[in-house]
Amino acid sequence: MCGASFYPTSRSHGRERAFFYACSAYHKRGTAVCGNSLSMRIERVDDAVLQTLGGDVLRSAVVMAFSMESLRR
Ligand SMILES: [Zn+2]
Repeated sequence: MCGASFYPTSRSHGRERAFFYACSAYHKRGTAVCGNSLSMRIERVDDAVLQTLGGDVLRSAVVMAFSMESLRR
């Protein structure tokens, strides 16, 4: 929401430790800078990012365009 980067954080989750991504501005600089208190499990964010990369970035047409461009240089 504020454009800051992800901030890795963890907390105990039963007997295990769970890892989350949250907003770095919210955690380091407080609610005056960013009001986004949401956090999400790292596994879920990683999966979503990898699916987006696999679906959009690694589509054969895009890969071909990048390959052709790099051959031209
Ligand atoms: Zn933020």
